[in-house]
Amino acid sequence: MPTFVYTSLCDGCGKCVEICPSDIMHIDPVMRRAYNIEPEYCWECYSCVKACPQHAIDIRGYADFAPLGHALTVLREPEKGVISWKVVYRNGETKTFRFPIRTTKFGSIKPPKELPEPRPEELSSELLSHEPEYLKIPFLPKLEVKKA
Ligand code: SF4
Ligand code: SF4
Repeated sequence: MPTFVYTSLCDGCGKCVEICPSDIMHIDPVMRRAYNIEPEYCWECYSCVKACPQHAIDIRGYADFAPLGHALTVLREPEKGVISWKVVYRNGETKTFRFPIRTTKFGSIKPPKELPEPRPEELSSELLSHEPEYLKIPFLPKLEVKKA
């Protein structure tokens, strides 16, 4: 489910713009408030929801099932270091999930400049940059296909 912005709460700080991996959170040049320019391209990662200091971003249920009673609401409590997701299922059942909020300061993660340039043969490797050492595992697990 994509996100939308309560413009009455947004102060235009731009944190959602910086963090959105899909580059779809923009600041309206006239209103100076954020908005999701392409909800259908939303990854639904909810990084913007977690990053917004004003609780201005919420989640829009898809039109085909939201009217059936489903709902998802978010509560961000940075002072407690948690974010909560309240899910209301169509049968009325409610579940609340609480997770720690990442507290790494904005802009504090630097690119790994100290690491060497990738070698040409690494371009054809299935491994991503700095795997597996940055995952803190000795090697990636392999999928074993068992013959019937
Ligand atoms: Fe961007 Fe993720 Fe927010 Fe969607 S949920 S607008 S992809 S940051
Ligand atoms: Fe507005 Fe929140 Fe985005 Fe800041 S992070 S621009 S307050 S929606």
